[in-house]
Amino acid sequence: MKKLVVLAISAIMCLALAACGGSSGGSSGSSSNSSASSASSSATSEGGKLVMGTNAAFPPYEFYENNEIVGIDAEIAKAIAEKLGMELTIEDMDFTSLVTAVQTGKIDMCLAGMTVTPDREKNVNFSESYATGVQVIIVTEDSDIASPDDLEGHQIGAQENTTGHIYCSDDYGEDSVTAYTTGANAVEALKTGKVDAVVIDNEPAKAFVEANEGLKILDTEYAIEDYAIAISKENDELLEKVNNAIKELKEDGTLDEIVSKYINS
Ligand code: GLN
Repeated sequence: MKKLVVLAISAIMCLALAACGGSSGGSSGSSSNSSASSASSSATSEGGKLVMGTNAAFPPYEFYENNEIVGIDAEIAKAIAEKLGMELTIEDMDFTSLVTAVQTGKIDMCLAGMTVTPDREKNVNFSESYATGVQVIIVTEDSDIASPDDLEGHQIGAQENTTGHIYCSDDYGEDSVTAYTTGANAVEALKTGKVDAVVIDNEPAKAFVEANEGLKILDTEYAIEDYAIAISKENDELLEKVNNAIKELKEDGTLDEIVSKYINS
């Protein structure tokens, strides 16, 4: 009998706890500043899970190797998770979904060679920058396009919602830009003559040109930008921890080591 009472009490307590947990963790819309920021995990507690979101079609920052997502961003995230005593998991999604995924707590942080832009800063916080990105122009080897000015009047391919897409739409008009879900698809369109140029970040550009014959990267840079980690505006605690980790990884040489593993300067 006593046993039953104890069981009943602990069952009630479990239910009560579950209800509390549910109301704080589940309501990602209501923004209390403390622990309720992530629906997916306890993104700041030691030993917890740290969920990184990315679009794994962006070599050498993120790409698949033997069914595993690897690359500069994946390794930086792993190093950060280690410093925080957390276990990293990586979720692959469309680039377009990443900012919303951070906002809703589906992921704790986004590392996707993501450029800091004022528009994105309205929706998410960015960490200290960990890399520089350059928007470059890929054309076919026989192209008459030799500089950004020559893009005028041509059809440009870009990855949807990336800065390449956004800047080109601003500079040359939306009708001049065709957006593709991945950079690889944009490059494929260039090869088949559907577009005359592709504007994309320099490192993936190099990887795509290496993998596809008959393409080249123009010398003139189109835009220079900062890559940083996007984190929910409601998770200042994680932002601070990530910033501290980045600082340490810069100081102890780990960041340079990771980069030089993937990029030969
Ligand atoms: N740096 C670009 C941006 O943030 C492209 C990033 C990407 O395609 N993964 O828009």
